[in-house]
Amino acid sequence: MTGELAGKVAIVTGGASGLGEGLVRRFAAEGAKVLIADIDRDAGAALAADLGEQTRFVEADVSDIGQVSDVVSAAVEHFGGLHVMVNNAGVSGTMHRRFLDDDLADFQRVMAINVAAVMAGTRDAARHMSEHGGGSIINLTSIGGIQAGGGVMTYRASKAAVIQFTKSAAIELAHYEIRVNAIAPGNIRTAIVRKSAAGEDLERLEQFEEKIRAQMRADRPLKREGTVEDIAEAALYFAGDRSLYVTGTILPIDGGTSAGKVIVRKSPT
Ligand code: NAD
Repeated sequence: MTGELAGKVAIVTGGASGLGEGLVRRFAAEGAKVLIADIDRDAGAALAADLGEQTRFVEADVSDIGQVSDVVSAAVEHFGGLHVMVNNAGVSGTMHRRFLDDDLADFQRVMAINVAAVMAGTRDAARHMSEHGGGSIINLTSIGGIQAGGGVMTYRASKAAVIQFTKSAAIELAHYEIRVNAIAPGNIRTAIVRKSAAGEDLERLEQFEEKIRAQMRADRPLKREGTVEDIAEAALYFAGDRSLYVTGTILPIDGGTSAGKVIVRKSPT
């Protein structure tokens, strides 16, 4: 570790577990002060206790955009500033084998967390950053927002919205030296599908998820499994001063999935 984020204050929404936890750990290891905002009180408090005074946990439900504003205020008040905002909290929504069976019952919730909270987090962080020399905003989209496909139609639509919003915000906020970029992970093993399941048969869901993962692995050019650390590395690049000339980009961290399907050959040459 090089202390790349020394002197910086960051917020990670959804920072208590999964990719967000990986980001929090990496940012803290690089010297940042990190505010962890999450709906999961136990996991968030445990992570902050593990990492010590350099981090602070705030319980927040980002589907309520008023709470997103409170999170930004809490970071500024507690740590004295804000340089990096990671809008990471997200849910996959209910999986459907057939779109014909989708009653869109979770549309409002998925859009509130995956889109409205990202827009509010960007706006609220930018209100501070615009008056304090700029900053870096990092939004989590997905290869599901780049590639068309089935299964989670609302999720795909929400993540596509994040891409267009990120580019538009990058143009709008460049005037204030605020950079806005997005990371599009692909198939990193976390609890996102299980956590998003409300009242579903978990065993069947896990079998369905494993089938999809196996298909994604087969379609992926790089056979290596992606990790939470791969995403944290990309976030570190966007958060720090190595990317001062980079804004409005969407970076897939997906083993080449969004580049296209593998070409099947009998021998590798
Ligand atoms: P995860 O479920 O493991 O973690 C998400 C975190 O967000 C959890 O700690 C959860 O408690 C929190 N959260 C959920 N709803 C919240 C709310 N309303 N308010 C505050 N916190 C809330 O998921 P993950 O895989 O770590 O996903 C993180 C982000 O990355 C999401 O935006 C997701 O869409 C995106 N993503 C993940 C993958 C992947 O392969 N894991 C792929 C593409 C995109």
